Amino acid sequence: KKDKLGNKYKKDFPILNQQINGKSLVYFDNAATTQKPEVVLDAVDNYNRTINANPHRGAHTLSVRSTEAYENARAKVKDFINAEKVEEIIFTRNTTESLNLLANSMEALVEEGDEILISALEHHSNILPWQQLAERKNLKLKYLYPDQNYRISMAELKDKLTDKTRIFSISQMSNVSGTINPIKEMAELAHQKNALVVVDGAQGAPHLKTDVRDLNVDFYAFSGHKMLGPMGIGVLYGKKDLLEKLPPFLRGGGMIEYVNEQDSTYAPLPEKFEAGTPNVEGAVGLQAAIEYLEEIGLDKIKEHELELTKYALEKMKQLDFVEIAGPLDLEDRGGIISFNLKDIHSHDLATIVDSEGIAIRSGHHCAQPLMKFYGLNSTGRVSFYLYNTKEEVDRFLESLEKVREVFGYGS
Ligand code: PMP
Repeated sequence: KKDKLGNKYKKDFPILNQQINGKSLVYFDNAATTQKPEVVLDAVDNYNRTINANPHRGAHTLSVRSTEAYENARAKVKDFINAEKVEEIIFTRNTTESLNLLANSMEALVEEGDEILISALEHHSNILPWQQLAERKNLKLKYLYPDQNYRISMAELKDKLTDKTRIFSISQMSNVSGTINPIKEMAELAHQKNALVVVDGAQGAPHLKTDVRDLNVDFYAFSGHKMLGPMGIGVLYGKKDLLEKLPPFLRGGGMIEYVNEQDSTYAPLPEKFEAGTPNVEGAVGLQAAIEYLEEIGLDKIKEHELELTKYALEKMKQLDFVEIAGPLDLEDRGGIISFNLKDIHSHDLATIVDSEGIAIRSGHHCAQPLMKFYGLNSTGRVSFYLYNTKEEVDRFLESLEKVREVFGYGS
């Protein structure tokens, strides 16, 4: 039976209509980067062909249009995550830059002896900036640990939060295990201790309907390229009163009010955090991506991803040479499956699977503390999005048997 929905969406993505190593491409590396539908390619192309000019600088028509395009994109992002004000949306390059901005600027809000709480499920982007802040300001960096089913319990959070916890930073969804964290409940608990709540939404925003006001998080970071948009455009959301308290991260053109020889004053939000010429074509592409996602509906997309995940997980669980590194049930998990084949390194696995035209990720997935915690050296990882199909999952499962054969193991 053909996967009607997946095949329907797939038609919107020109890149997917190609052969890799003589086979039609199966793209299962969506947690790393997603593909762009025609509408996103066209929006970026149209901007470059008809508008391209430096925004905010100069009164000529194209500059004004470029400014409008950029600010329209900001307004779209605001609505997408249901932020209250456009000034709360800062454009950055990606999640990594958003988190670095925060960790640098939050220096102003912490004192020696304060604690930062993160989890062992985090991507390096949500670890290293906090390590740096902890080192600079002499803070303690503490970790939440997940259980055997790759979930972090509320009891663990209760246990680790103290009166000194000033920052609590957690991912909405793990890019390795696919674990979805109960952000709303976690934020509530952290706020009871007066901690500021930061969420790494790199894997959340693309797949989970996200309302920053309902979740009541203080800061939220995500990347355009993981949600059908261009690379080089990312977002940092922050509550206005908090962003106003933070000093700028990068300094230069575009973020000032007055500059004197020895000192300067800064522009209001959001420009205060947007030094230098921004990535307008990226913002325009991100807007088109959001419009495309909204037209289909994130709930519908998630349902499709979960169906593929359920289908793949059930089959993989039956293979005795497959070990899954993530929750085995479908509750609170997304369309990411990390796994190993017994006695086969994940790089070999990915290479052989690639010879079948199937793109999967292998390695430590920029989450070495997680890998160490579970005693893993590396894993293979498949991650789904709206344009993937059941037929593709079948081809992937068949390719696993091939990997076993190449290594001389019977299937
Ligand atoms: N956090 C998570 C959970 C991620 O999956 C990723 C990307 N793999 C990042 C942060 C970093 O995103 P970017 O490379 O776009 O900055």
